[in-house]
This record gives sequence, C-alpha cells and structure tokens, in this order.
Amino acid sequence: MIDVHNHLHDPCFQGERERLVDTMREAGITACVVNGTCEEDWPEVARLAKRYPGFVLPAFGLHPWKVADRSSSWLDTLAAFLESHPGAGLGECGLDRFMKNPDLEAQQGVFRAQLRLARELHRPATIHCLRAWGPLLENLKAIDQRPRFLLHSYGGSREIARQCLELGAWYSFSGHFLHPRKVRTREVFADLPTDRILVETDAPEMAPPNPPYHFGTHNHPANLPFIAAKLAALCGCPVDTLTRNAQRFLGRSDEESSV
Ligand SMILES: [Zn+2]
Repeated sequence: MIDVHNHLHDPCFQGERERLVDTMREAGITACVVNGTCEEDWPEVARLAKRYPGFVLPAFGLHPWKVADRSSSWLDTLAAFLESHPGAGLGECGLDRFMKNPDLEAQQGVFRAQLRLARELHRPATIHCLRAWGPLLENLKAIDQRPRFLLHSYGGSREIARQCLELGAWYSFSGHFLHPRKVRTREVFADLPTDRILVETDAPEMAPPNPPYHFGTHNHPANLPFIAAKLAALCGCPVDTLTRNAQRFLGRSDEESSV
C-alpha cells in the first residue's frame, strides 16, 4: 500500500522517524511520497529518501504558502534536486486563496513554472488547491502540455472535478474527509472513476476521526490502511485498486511509465 502524500520530513516527527517507519511497515505500507514544500526542506526530503530507499519516494516542490519566501534561484535549485533524484516527483505546488494575504499573481507564476518543469523532466506533479478553482483551471489550460497531475486532498465540487478530469486529473483522498461534516466531499469521490482515485494521509495534517494510530495531536502516517479501507468501501472498489492506481500515477507500473 502506497501513501501518495505525506510530510514525513516535518519537524514534528524529529527523532521519531525510525519508530514511525517501523510502525508504517508493520501496518502494511510499502512506500510513501514525501512532499517537500520549500527550498529549506528539500535537503531533508532528499536525506530521508537516501535513508529509506524504495520506501520514501521523494517529491520536491514550492508550496503556495512558501512562495513569498522563495529565493531568486529557487527554480534552478528545484530543477537540480529533481535531476539528481530521477525517481522524484514534483510537489507540492499549487494555488491557495484561503491563506492570509495570498498573492495570487506570484502564486500563478510559480505554479506554471513548476508544471512546465515537471513536464520537461517527465515527472508527475502533486497539486494543492484551496479556494482557487477558477485560477486552477485557467492555469492548467494555459499550459500547452501538462504533466500527469494529482489534486491532493481534493475538496472541490463535483463540477470542478469533472472539468479537471477532462484535463487528465487524478484525485487523492485524506482521512480528514471521513469526518461526518465532509459528506459532500465523500459524495464527489464516490462518483469519480475508480481508476483515478488515490489515498493519502497528508500526515502530520488531516487526521481521520477515531484513528487507530496517534502521534500526539498530529496525524500518524500509519493511518493509511484505515483510510484506504473506508475509501475503498465508499467507492465500491478493492483496496488493491488504490495501490495499483498509485503505481500507475507514479509511473511505477508498465502501463503508464512516462508522463
Ligand atoms: Zn501536504
């Protein structure tokens, strides 16, 4: 079972990673995509990928919350990290109007540059989007050749999901959507084609209600099988389908190896 989106490099896990990875493996997790968010944390993601080869699949990206703090050489640094990690994805990147004082202009430039880079280097891209669905669609359409892309923790409407699907989107579901009030999001996932659905923890964020594993007040990354079982039931597919989808999205199956 593959977690397509977590943040195992997050400082809250400092000193505990050995134990976390053991617990994840015992729970049946075979790999996880660890998403960097800014220039400062890319080296830590790279370190974890080296420490846990084949288990930590690295992804490097500039998150919309970190756009204001980027250096003038961020894109070159990002390209260098991706080039030195041939199996790495691009992520996470995206658009966010929910944050305090969003600079959408800057976010869009950074987002498009990353989509182009992912395409150029044939890497799948992981996208974060909050309350910026219109700009997301515009930017995706403005790119003539898109990389394979995942809308992670997808919380948009059915209509936006349909439009993004036409552009080739994949969707991942996080445990937070198992809360009773998230019924609309669950309905959207139940309607998506089962070959486009993935599962993630987004640990240490987005904890499910009543999880089997706890990490203080944070989401434990070993909660993935618990979330996957609920998602599979919701979508009427076996859990194995989610794993196969993850392999296809990540280019680790023969079916879809190039982006
Ligand atoms: Zn994330």
